[in-house]
Amino acid sequence: MTEKAKGGGRTRRAVLFGGLGALAVGALAAQDEIRRAWWLLPGVSKPRKEGDVDSPGVSWTAASPANWRLADRPDDYRVDRIVVHVTQGDFASSVGAFQNPFHKASAHYIVRQDGHVEQMVRELDIAFHAGNRSMNERSVGIEHEGFIDRPQDFTDALYAASARLAADICRRYGIPVDRQHVLGHSEVPGADHTDPGPHWDWDRYLRMVREELARTAPPAKAG
Ligand SMILES: [Zn+2]
Repeated sequence: MTEKAKGGGRTRRAVLFGGLGALAVGALAAQDEIRRAWWLLPGVSKPRKEGDVDSPGVSWTAASPANWRLADRPDDYRVDRIVVHVTQGDFASSVGAFQNPFHKASAHYIVRQDGHVEQMVRELDIAFHAGNRSMNERSVGIEHEGFIDRPQDFTDALYAASARLAADICRRYGIPVDRQHVLGHSEVPGADHTDPGPHWDWDRYLRMVREELARTAPPAKAG
């Protein structure tokens, strides 16, 4: 395209080809959208059943569809991040908020202080939790019941349940267990939220996730 634009009538051709370039970019973007929407065609989407969950031992309560976006991850978007949140409220009010169509936010999971885990958005889909579109598209969001300024809210049972869940997510998508891939909401680019805050014990959490992963990962094949 650039080569052809050289020579006589250069300016005009440059304008012409520049215009075609914009069209081509537009067409590519449209193709990208089509590729991402292929699952809208009948018969090709992954089967979904109300009440299905993505991780063993978790319960299901559906978030309002207004608070998340339909997708088909990891086929349309690669999942390579876990974003850690703190609810700034109790478990029941957080579940209620995600069910409320006017809340405009959700997360895939909420971990209660006693270790119970509620899934509210399928991992296939994009929950609105990180305040950042591309981060939402690539991540699984885990909320933890509590307040960032109350370290006693982060119970042993909460850490254990969350680590078990995070390890399962890391194993299924091949996400490395490090602080680049397992991050806090406050670390998301452009974030105006401060959770999980200074009392969240990252060293402990990542150690527990690694231990859980080592315990559950299939033994490496010899040779
Ligand atoms: Zn958050």
